Amino acid sequence: MANVAIANVQKKYGAVEAIPRLSVDIRDGEFVVLVGPSGCGKSTLLRMIAGLEEISGGEISIDDDVINDVPAKERDIAMVFQNYALYPHMTVKENMSFALKLMKRPKSEINERVNNAARILGLGQLLDRFPRELSGGQRQRVAMGRAIVRDPKVFLFDEPLSNLDAKLRVQMRTEIRALHQRLKTTTVYVTHDQVEAMTMADKIVVMNAGRVEQIGAPLDLYDRPDNLFVAGFIGSPAMNLIEGTVTIRSGPVLRSEQGIELTLPASLAAMKGRQLVYGVRPEHFSLAGQHGIEGIVEVVEPTGSDTQVMLKAADTNIVATFRDRVGLHPAETVHLYPDLAKVHIFDRETGKRVNTMPEQGAA
Ligand code: ADP
Repeated sequence: MANVAIANVQKKYGAVEAIPRLSVDIRDGEFVVLVGPSGCGKSTLLRMIAGLEEISGGEISIDDDVINDVPAKERDIAMVFQNYALYPHMTVKENMSFALKLMKRPKSEINERVNNAARILGLGQLLDRFPRELSGGQRQRVAMGRAIVRDPKVFLFDEPLSNLDAKLRVQMRTEIRALHQRLKTTTVYVTHDQVEAMTMADKIVVMNAGRVEQIGAPLDLYDRPDNLFVAGFIGSPAMNLIEGTVTIRSGPVLRSEQGIELTLPASLAAMKGRQLVYGVRPEHFSLAGQHGIEGIVEVVEPTGSDTQVMLKAADTNIVATFRDRVGLHPAETVHLYPDLAKVHIFDRETGKRVNTMPEQGAA
């Protein structure tokens, strides 16, 4: 068990600054997911924690020890890779024993640890097989087994599920979570998949271009994104984001260039003339008589449990999701009304959130 502190860490590849300056605190036993688009520096950060990449500046500590100059194999960290990195000429048992043999552990202890990990991961029947005789999911389990037997202070996962098909990915997600609940080992998990991040993390670190955009519990990021990047990145289907200028009618509204007018929280009346972005999650619309945004239905996708509707309102694409089985049809005109207590308003220039939530006195 261990706390990991990443303090003002920098990474330069020659002249390229992959990570300008980044700080994250990871608490003992926490499952932290680093998420962000490809190239944002997730793997670089993970590899610096592992000791596979030099740290150009700042400090990484485990508990109270700075580990910047501690070699990878002495960090007491186990890493699970995307491509499993199993030894093809070794059986499952040999793969799982290998690190312990290198540490010259007694044979009885090795057997006990390997059997214990095999039991937890359901690999008991497969110990004598070679990696080529295993399915993708089984290989990934062996890779995790190899990490577990070492009983490390920290687990690192680098996109471990991206080589698996969609169904197995969902199943392995649950398995890794269950494993963490059982072992409670501090874990740092890298993925570009925001659904994986949302479903697995205690705490998500959203990264973009080597920087942290926001850190928080999954639902906190979903309910209260600090900026436009997080608003657009977290959530599927994505939040609707409509740009416009604050105009005063009977109260403040945001008027888009195409002429859509969206009611703003009364608290934003002072922002007349400002360029803002209005964010509404697809599930936060209701179908309202003659008020709200007028849109023309383009596509209706019922999934059984809910209905996703794609609309066009004055040349702007809007996605709305309804729990109920709404009887909408393509080419129909509807009025969508955003739940004012749940809208997200951002400054267009800085991307920063400008409204607090929940809105006082909102409809
Ligand atoms: P991610 O894991 O989020 O996809 P990476 O950590 O792999 O991103 O990469 C972050 C940035 O650092 C990218 O711009 C990438 O091109 C650059 N980078 C990564 N590894 C190297 C390297 N060995 N040499 C030069 N640039 C690199």
